[in-house]
Amino acid sequence: MSSNTNLLEIHNLHAGIDETPILNGVNIEIKPGEIHAIMGRNGSGKTTTANIIMGHPDYEVTAGSVNLNGQDLLEMETWERSRLGVFLSFQYPQAVPGLQVGNFLRKSVAAIRGEDVAKGPDFRKSLKDAMKELDIPRSFLGRYVNDGFSGGEKKRFEILQLMLLEPKLAILDETDSGLDIDGIRTVAKGINTAIRGTDSGALIITHYSRILEHVQPDKIHVLIKGKIVKTGGPELALELEERGYEWLDNGGNYADSEESNSAVNTTD
Ligand code: ADP
Ligand code: MG
Repeated sequence: MSSNTNLLEIHNLHAGIDETPILNGVNIEIKPGEIHAIMGRNGSGKTTTANIIMGHPDYEVTAGSVNLNGQDLLEMETWERSRLGVFLSFQYPQAVPGLQVGNFLRKSVAAIRGEDVAKGPDFRKSLKDAMKELDIPRSFLGRYVNDGFSGGEKKRFEILQLMLLEPKLAILDETDSGLDIDGIRTVAKGINTAIRGTDSGALIITHYSRILEHVQPDKIHVLIKGKIVKTGGPELALELEERGYEWLDNGGNYADSEESNSAVNTTD
């Protein structure tokens, strides 16, 4: 049933919180090296999808499956998923006063990729290169994690973690919101560097098409009321920008809709 060529397979995912259904039919398949996007209005279930892949304990999965390289993520604790290479960049990153950025990065890399990777000149070089690519000044390393960071600094710091942790699957929840155009370009560059040409993949969650112009996702999935109603190529972002989401409110079953390999029934 599960194909070996997929990095991530989400099939028919249904989930909720305290008996309230939030997701009712999420289907996504990502191949190694691919970048996909989930787009949808506020409240459509984007963050919920990200949290469930990562293993947030508040949500209850009522049906469906989530596999990474053929392994059942839903059976695993959050830390096991993280070890396996799942990375979630938060929509609202948490400040940790007292924990310095440099220490945090070294400890994170040691925990995920091993002690050896986190020390020595190689680590210092990759840290330096990544910071340069993201326009992050050296002084950043001595600051406390997300403490007093501007919106743009928080987002760039998320991408710095992504570049150093080299996850198998990076999920980026609204990493573009609040960024100016230079910030978006920088973040997009970091994502492309971390994923393109590797066997990793990324899922970018956004409700703006702007970052997608710089990342050029392989596929875009539209989430409406907890269901993926349409999957298309990068051109779908522009169409959404122009037409909004209304034309998909009936489940995407629309006369001139192009390729859609997702569920389109509206019987909920
Ligand atoms: P999005 O990220 O697309 O804006 P969310 O996944 O955050 O949407 O939320 C989807 C729906 O689930 C919303 O109606 C939201 O109120 C509800 N929801 C999400 N998290 C919780 C929670 N912890 N408790 C109660 N309701 C929640
Ligand atoms: Mg959200």
